[in-house]
Amino acid sequence: MKLTFWGAAQTVTGSMHELTHHGERYLLDCGLYQGRRKEAFARNSTFPFAPSSVKSVLLSHAHTDHAGNLPTLVKNGFTGPIWANAATTDLCQAMLRDSAYLQERDAEFIARRNAKRRRLEIDDQDLEIVAPLYGIKDAEQALEQFQVLESANAVHEVAEGLLCQRFDAGHMLGSTAMVLEAKEGGKRTRLAFSGDVGRVGLPIIRDPEALPAVDYLIMESTYGNRLHEHNEAVEDKLEAVIKRTVERGGKVIVPAFAVGRTQQVVLMLHGLMKQGRLPAIPIFVDSPLAVNVTEVFRRHPECFDEHIAEYLQRGEDPFGFSRLKYVREVADSKALNDLRGPVVIISASGMCEGGRVLHHLRNNIGDPRNTVLITGYQGENTLGRKIVDKAPEVNIFGEPFRLRAEVVKLNELSGHADQRELLSWMKPMVGSLKRVFLVHGELLPANTLAKLIEEEYHLPVTVAARGESFSLD
Ligand SMILES: [Zn+2]
Repeated sequence: MKLTFWGAAQTVTGSMHELTHHGERYLLDCGLYQGRRKEAFARNSTFPFAPSSVKSVLLSHAHTDHAGNLPTLVKNGFTGPIWANAATTDLCQAMLRDSAYLQERDAEFIARRNAKRRRLEIDDQDLEIVAPLYGIKDAEQALEQFQVLESANAVHEVAEGLLCQRFDAGHMLGSTAMVLEAKEGGKRTRLAFSGDVGRVGLPIIRDPEALPAVDYLIMESTYGNRLHEHNEAVEDKLEAVIKRTVERGGKVIVPAFAVGRTQQVVLMLHGLMKQGRLPAIPIFVDSPLAVNVTEVFRRHPECFDEHIAEYLQRGEDPFGFSRLKYVREVADSKALNDLRGPVVIISASGMCEGGRVLHHLRNNIGDPRNTVLITGYQGENTLGRKIVDKAPEVNIFGEPFRLRAEVVKLNELSGHADQRELLSWMKPMVGSLKRVFLVHGELLPANTLAKLIEEEYHLPVTVAARGESFSLD
């Protein structure tokens, strides 16, 4: 078995790893690389192998940085199965269609802007990129190719001589860590792929499961150099932020990943409302994708933890309460701009790289009464990162805006294990491991974690670089 890293290598997006076994090519994930527009387009639109030569894709979970480039793979000739569990498959139905829609719309926006600039005779390097990476047709075709990996922990033969077993990763609805077993002659080689490692005690979903003994491990390292604050305080912090903003007469804008983070925030607000800890202000989830995804959550109780199971037993909807409104229509979204007085608006995308949240940020970040509540990791060069870093001025839709709103970060909601949590998650495998490959982390966190694994577990560690290959035997 040969392993080659093509994405999420020393960065946190574009997860894609290639496995070859018995002359066949397989991919672990096929995510979108996110970053500067031009570079991202170049990375995402071409593959370092012929997509038609890929036999199948094994998908860890439905986040864009893991699944979002599947339509491009299909558009370029991939016809094989995409293996995923039922919740991931359903989430991708919503997510990939939305992604295609956004790409088509962004391309139209840029084409219009380019036409205007040409009329004004402005010279601009970015003028060339007007084609969407993929369209709705490609997303639909990719969805046709999904094959559902049913039942937890069952062993599936994804190809002759290649077995796959899935485990709950505890990171988001349906998230999977997988163990692949390749048979070669009489020899078996076992490779674990963490996908994104979640955390014990995250709301909604069950905790990460322990993996069995394996020879090699590909593990994420997003927070390889960080420790999260304790979860218990997060509700207090959320309550305090909302109260303080309401006292100023301001609005709370919450950029949140439509898949997972939005539902966590909604669940916490539901809990706070029930306990009478929040002022009686309206709360909106303004993202068609988040609305669709919340529907998918409701259809997959098999992924829920006990806390949510209790809501269901009482006949309550964990993701709905009287002050909360889900906004689907564009006109209703626009109407939110005219609202006077305190309000909470939860909107995608989580890193502020697209979606309706851009309009809310544009309208609100200049007012010091308002708060931008950041709920997740912000990749390098994203608008979200600039806001977290409190840049005095940020560009939205190509125009500069002063950042005067309060910026608050809730790191506690992270769906990613921190340094200690990663070390304890991999611990059951330490005795059998020959090598650990770290992916899905910027260089500093990945290197820091690598050093710790070497020191504490005496294992060789490689911080994977793009294009690097390894023989696993
Ligand atoms: Zn993820």
